[in-house]
Amino acid sequence: MSAPKGRGEPRRRPNRPRTRPTARRGAPAGALATALSAADTDRIIYDLTGIEAQYDSLLAELPGTDVRFALKACPVDEVLSCLAGRGAGFDAASPAEISQALRTGATPDRIHYGNTIKSDHDIAEAHRQGIRTFATDSVEDVTAIARHAPGARVFCRLATSGEGALWGLNRKFGCAPEDALRILDTARSAGLTPAGLSVHVGSQQMTAEGWQAALDLLAGTLTSLAGRGIVPDHVNLGGGLPALGYRDRHGTPLDPPLDKIFAVLREGMDRLRALAPVTFVMEPGRHLVADHGAVRARVARLTHRRRPDGGDAHWLYLSCGKFNGLYEMDQLTHQMVFPGRPDEGVTIPAVVAGPTCDSDDAYGAGLLPVRIPRDLASGDPVWILSAGAYATSYTTGGFNGFGPLPCVCVRTHPSPDHERP
Ligand SMILES: *Cc1c(COP(=O)(O)O)cnc(C)c1O
Repeated sequence: MSAPKGRGEPRRRPNRPRTRPTARRGAPAGALATALSAADTDRIIYDLTGIEAQYDSLLAELPGTDVRFALKACPVDEVLSCLAGRGAGFDAASPAEISQALRTGATPDRIHYGNTIKSDHDIAEAHRQGIRTFATDSVEDVTAIARHAPGARVFCRLATSGEGALWGLNRKFGCAPEDALRILDTARSAGLTPAGLSVHVGSQQMTAEGWQAALDLLAGTLTSLAGRGIVPDHVNLGGGLPALGYRDRHGTPLDPPLDKIFAVLREGMDRLRALAPVTFVMEPGRHLVADHGAVRARVARLTHRRRPDGGDAHWLYLSCGKFNGLYEMDQLTHQMVFPGRPDEGVTIPAVVAGPTCDSDDAYGAGLLPVRIPRDLASGDPVWILSAGAYATSYTTGGFNGFGPLPCVCVRTHPSPDHERP
């Protein structure tokens, strides 16, 4: 079954890879490249033009979807303003995130409270801020919403397995389908609108099967809800869409099957629309920003040491790491560019790590080497690519004195229409 055509755009022919705004790998381009080359101190750089193109590309793939950026993935005012200017809404998880979303240009009707975990005070505060749509996954929470945000719309998050994702997000969130019936029934009796269902397939979901399972779960639950006379008006497909530029812990490109994922999504959305008159919300985080942010760091030291057990290893210590920009070192590695060092030069395997006195501050748990140039010196610049997601939000206040990276936003083609007032 083919997806409905969006905005009169021709559907692309199969087997013809389309150029995406996101480079799967290779050298940075445009404003990002210019800014990296010009940087003489450490920083994190976001390419607003790239982020806008990524947003447009997602809408072209899934026409009609209400995209609400999960702002924890990049809580940078300029980035949020640029997305809001493009028409994006926001998935916020606390009153402080709601404030930031409002401050950067979204109206309350374009923001929902997407966190299932909230105190009475959080609910009341969000309601005061004008928020009228809330995620939930328990009777206790929905009862509190009825009390502190009377008349609100609620959507119920279903638990998923997280299989196929780098970060599963299972266990802590979501309920079983039978509980969703009970929760939305409770909502209705308490004067709330049982407005929707949601899922999150896990962050950096690498398989189309992960999405297929979630869509099957949604279809089954929509059918059961209809049996109780509950007809939600929307389905929230959550986050989980992958970044394209990551490498695995061994340094091999991850290469997620994005086209296949979109095909499964389009088909699944058609199927759900046939079951109930629903519209679709998505809450992408990393997919919109990861590949359009890069870190400019430096080499602290390249060393070679023998270990007590007889083995030996090269270690490349960088000026930034897990605690100031590269939090996700636990599951992935980033492509590194050493400007001025040709790719064809002599390379050696080295374990790459951050600068702090914490052994978690290393790629691959400090065990998995990747190839780097042999002749790196302290102070040499290094560009760390596809580092735009979850960098600033997970940054510590300055563990061991290694403070947050200064943040810079750049554009390739200045477009006055979308510049900040
Ligand atoms: C973090 C989060 C997202 C974004 O997830 P990504 O994997 O970055 O796309 C979306 N929805 C909810 C509820 C989240 O907690």
